[in-house]
Amino acid sequence: MARSVSILGATGSIGRSTLDLIEREDDAFDVIALTARSDVEGLAAAARRTRAQHAVIGDERLYTALKDALAGSETQAAAGNDAICEAAALGADWTMAAIVGTAGLKPVMAALKQGKTVALANKESLVLAGGLMTHAAQEAGATLLPVDSEHNAVFQCFPHDDPSRVRRIILTASGGPFRTLSREEMARVTPAQAVKHPNWSMGAKISVDSATLMNKGLELIEAHHLFPVGSEKLSVLVHPQSVVHSLVEYVDGSMLAQLGPADMRTPIAHTLAWPQRMKTPCEPLDLAKVGRLDFEDPDLDRFPALALALEALAAGGSRAGVLNAANEEAVAAFLAGRIGFLDIFMVVDQVVSRYDPRPAETIDEALMLDAESRRETALALERRAA
Ligand code: NAD
Ligand code: MG
Repeated sequence: MARSVSILGATGSIGRSTLDLIEREDDAFDVIALTARSDVEGLAAAARRTRAQHAVIGDERLYTALKDALAGSETQAAAGNDAICEAAALGADWTMAAIVGTAGLKPVMAALKQGKTVALANKESLVLAGGLMTHAAQEAGATLLPVDSEHNAVFQCFPHDDPSRVRRIILTASGGPFRTLSREEMARVTPAQAVKHPNWSMGAKISVDSATLMNKGLELIEAHHLFPVGSEKLSVLVHPQSVVHSLVEYVDGSMLAQLGPADMRTPIAHTLAWPQRMKTPCEPLDLAKVGRLDFEDPDLDRFPALALALEALAAGGSRAGVLNAANEEAVAAFLAGRIGFLDIFMVVDQVVSRYDPRPAETIDEALMLDAESRRETALALERRAA
């Protein structure tokens, strides 16, 4: 019997990789809904190819354009953020949450409440409201499977029946394109250089996060919500080849790791077939060709974003949400050419340290805190530019 699937953020890097896997096994999947923010053409083309029941564009002004692009097809068009949440709540057996940023939070909550399987790529939603999300998943009996390559690796190695067997979770980090640069050299890097990751092809925001190492910081917070071992057992190891995707160290000294190609279709396929396995078109990993695997400790002086995230993790409350919002705004400003690369750390640091974080108890509160933090960041950005 075909499984029903939906993809939130279908036109992005993760969304397209997910579509690629689904389209190769046309008979195995029925597509319920595909969503995007503004890429009408990409969304409509994917909806036609997969004969999706619903296609939703976030930007309401694009409703007519989407309807026209879908004319004569089986797909129903809708527009607006509420319509994305409604599509997420249609009860697909499996939903890919691949919207970037905290814009993905409400849709992912709507999907979790259906009690089915949610494959989570959208780490920012977990950083902002991880406790609320895992609680909602539990209440609804939903299965939350991590897509992020490190967390998917940990998931595959983790003793789910008894987490007390774990001594340490080690998230690997490629170190990004500026791993060996000095601070002086980093001050001059351009957005084009920052989005060019040495090993992975990804969306712009996460590429910049990989260059600052904020991505790894967000991933520590993500791991904290997904794997209940205590944040003191989480660590980061720089591994430039991106072959070992993460490790779990057991109390007896054994380390289990997951290795694979630097292709997100492998972890996506893991969540799509789980608890079974499915074939992927990924180039098999040739370890003889890789030759050697290197590991080093991260340099928190040159990459203070990681230190900021560790502080937020230790502080608890809603500090991680503030950090996440400030980072999204600062990265957007960097990509727009408004601030330099090193200003990202400075702006985020200012906002996080000026802020008095209250713990958010509901999704609306979390989103209010997110909005407030963005306003604070806008002010910090203005001061920086002045
Ligand atoms: P992307 O920018 O390529 O795609 C983002 C998708 O979200 C697009 O479909 C876009 O239309 C949609 N979107 C963006 N803003 C939206 C909004 N306000 N409302 C509704 N839809 C919106 O990003 P990506 O690289 O595919 O990353 C998606 C998520 O997965 C991110 O949270 C990222 O951190 C995470 N992730 C990505 C990778 C990767 O290899 N790309 C790896 C691990 C985790
Ligand atoms: Mg990752």
